[in-house]
Amino acid sequence: MTSHVFPRNSKAPPPQVIRGEGVYLFDKDGKSYLNFGDAAVSCLGHGDARVTAAVKAQMDEVAFAHTGFFTSDPAERLADKLVSLAPGDLDRVYFVSGGSEAMEAAIKLARQYYLETGEPQRHKIVARRQSYHGNTLGALATGGNAWRRAQFAPILIDVSHVSPCYAYRGLSEGETDEAYVDRLIDELEAEFQSLGPETVMAFVAEPVVGATLGAVGPVGDYFARVREVCDRHGILLILDEVMCGMGRTGTLFACEQFGVSPDICAIAKGLGGGYQPIGATLCTKAIHDAILNGSGFFQHGHTYLGHPVACAAGLAVLERLVDDEVLARVTPSGTHFRQALRDRLGQHPHVGDIRGSGLFCGVELVADRETKAPWSPEARLHARIKAAAFSDGLICYPMGGTIDGKNGDHVLLAPPFIADHTQLDEAADILAGAIDRSI
Ligand code: PLP
Repeated sequence: MTSHVFPRNSKAPPPQVIRGEGVYLFDKDGKSYLNFGDAAVSCLGHGDARVTAAVKAQMDEVAFAHTGFFTSDPAERLADKLVSLAPGDLDRVYFVSGGSEAMEAAIKLARQYYLETGEPQRHKIVARRQSYHGNTLGALATGGNAWRRAQFAPILIDVSHVSPCYAYRGLSEGETDEAYVDRLIDELEAEFQSLGPETVMAFVAEPVVGATLGAVGPVGDYFARVREVCDRHGILLILDEVMCGMGRTGTLFACEQFGVSPDICAIAKGLGGGYQPIGATLCTKAIHDAILNGSGFFQHGHTYLGHPVACAAGLAVLERLVDDEVLARVTPSGTHFRQALRDRLGQHPHVGDIRGSGLFCGVELVADRETKAPWSPEARLHARIKAAAFSDGLICYPMGGTIDGKNGDHVLLAPPFIADHTQLDEAADILAGAIDRSI
């Protein structure tokens, strides 16, 4: 029978999922899949009793009330808890329905902040190449993934992009981490200077780059130096923790590990853990106060912002992560998982790098280990690995190299935090087999 669902890939519609339990998803034919690759959403796995009970209870109380008229208990409690756990001066939480919306809100909030504080000339954004900030037009324009941007380029706002901090390919022969960071900071400073720093409103970055590079964190004091340059020029720092936040890298916010806190931070994915679509844009008191003491109105509202059921899910997820100490599993399990990947793939002639932090892991594939030459995009290696792993019961998240040839294919792995060692080892086995079969 013809399906009327418009799938992501019209040439290869996916099987129907019918059940989720723990780290597994089951399709209609009864096949099970280790879910290690749903874009870092399922931090608690499937069927978490506390979260589903919270969602059901909230549905019985009140499912929806428009935020033009009401706030709600789950929204208030989730905001309180997030702020109590957030780094630095993050003090207010604007709830939306997902990551792109959270980034869209972040960008507009930065713009409105400067309007309210009497610097209307600040409207430019600087972000990084090989990044992803979402699929809506503002977020897409901010992202630096050449392939994702290409066909929409004529309708994207102008955003400047500088190099990411990507040691595997960015570090020159014999260069120290310090010298590399110096070089990246010089490039950022030069970009601000060429734009006119007084016209720049924000620098945007993922603390640990997810989909586009595959779990690439910074080296040394990169983010502290970025913060310093932004502060010197009065430019806001927006960190996109949509994928790497909510405990994925071992701390609730990835930026905690660098001792840096942003002015604005976007989170989503693990915030709802897949139980409800929810994202949030956190900002400092200074930014909120500028609006409070100015127009009083953040001019960016979606119908479903602050949805009570989504907030109830987010609150229950956060309680599971923090109060039930599920978050404490992430660092040791991540260490085990990366070792399992290294044991199986560390010497592989076509694996260039195995990296990541916490349960956010990346495996970069190369045509040649010595030269680090990437696979040609036409080979579509990532797609073949994805299909091979899926047929063997592993959901992973492979991506192709960007079309500018600056990075190769990689596989991103983001297991649920509840995964045990046997499941992590099994995933590493399946992936190693899938890579071998695909090359
Ligand atoms: N930002 C980052 C870093 C992401 O990885 C993503 C999605 O993968 C987004 C933003 C967009 O989030 P969403 O797909 O929920 O709109």
